[in-house]
Amino acid sequence: MNPFTYARATDAADAVRLASTTQAKYLGGGTNLVDLMRETIERPASLVDVTGLPSTIEERADGSLLIGAAVRNTALAEHRAVRTRYPVLSRAILAGASAQIRNMATVGGNILQRTRCAYFYDAEGSRCNKREPGQGCDAIDGHNRTHAILGASPACVATHPSDMGVALAALDAVVHLQGARGTRTLPLTEFHRLPGDQPELETELEPGELITAVELPALQLAAHSTYRKVRDRASYAFALVSVAAALEVEGGTVKDVRLVLGGVAHKPWRAWKAEAALRGGPATEQAFRTAAEAELADAVPLRDNAFKIELAQRTMVAVLGDLAARTARGDM
Ligand SMILES: Cc1cc2nc3c(=O)[nH]c(=O)nc-3n(C[C@H](O)[C@H](O)[C@H](O)COP(=O)(O)OP(=O)(O)OC[C@H]3O[C@@H](n4cnc5c(N)ncnc54)[C@H](O)[C@@H]3O)c2cc1C
Repeated sequence: MNPFTYARATDAADAVRLASTTQAKYLGGGTNLVDLMRETIERPASLVDVTGLPSTIEERADGSLLIGAAVRNTALAEHRAVRTRYPVLSRAILAGASAQIRNMATVGGNILQRTRCAYFYDAEGSRCNKREPGQGCDAIDGHNRTHAILGASPACVATHPSDMGVALAALDAVVHLQGARGTRTLPLTEFHRLPGDQPELETELEPGELITAVELPALQLAAHSTYRKVRDRASYAFALVSVAAALEVEGGTVKDVRLVLGGVAHKPWRAWKAEAALRGGPATEQAFRTAAEAELADAVPLRDNAFKIELAQRTMVAVLGDLAARTARGDM
């Protein structure tokens, strides 16, 4: 591990000021950043601890929730309003990592965790454009069973690992940011980037910019939502494919829907095409299948991961079918 300095921020302005030196990184729970520092993949000269920043979940009068970036994953998953009004988020968080890691991990750190591509972590032996821009990508012709099938590029086929991020993308979440030039907001769906020819740039964050909060707008159909994660082990494993979905059905017709795929791309993959195909149509298995096929029509499999296309389609169909059945039974 390289030497670094440590400072604890008292508020957001203090954090931004402390991080104004180059080579500074914010420290949340440290469950990803510290691992990467040990491997010398991340080499910050200073750490600005932001766990003392607001860790409250504010229920606002307009029905929205404002979640402080320092809120721990466990606290968010267990919050009454999240469990009842946004169950997809609670389920996604609980499908990730372990209880101990969720107790440490923060909201800001979770959505900024870096890919689990083994070639990215293998600093000694593998080429990685994300780690060393211009070096090449050993995953493209390597073991790529867990890699991307949508939105990848010749420079990078890594996937985004966060389960929470997939649920947030389905909930139209908005990320609140503060930097040297002031505050701004970004929809979560526009926060992460596809790799293009600069896979080292994973988000739209400007240097030194801090996530202060994540906002969940009031969204009625979010109460009818769920998360399904398909993985090699029943726990403590990242998604091969995951689906976050919310569905509102009236008289057998899809009134509204949100659908996001995880484990398939460099960012949570909002299934805009499938959503458009479903809205206003029948809530039938055939319609769910047609929409899922439309979403995956542009998928480009690598040597080892063609199975993800069918897996993603089947998981979407199963999750939508489950939500439709539960709505019909009136148990949501
Ligand atoms: C064994 C293991 C299994 C795991 N399994 C899963 C899984 O199945 N699903 C899943 O989703 N995750 C999984 N994780 C990842 C885990 O969820 C993340 O490590 C965790 O959420 C990161 O949060 P943190 O607060 O510890 O972030 P940190 O490690 O502190 O930070 C991560 C990044 O975020 C930046 N950062 C932190 N806070 C802010 C802020 N407020 N503003 C700007 N930048 C910030 C840091 O600078 C750093 O770049 C696993 C981790 C481990 C170790």
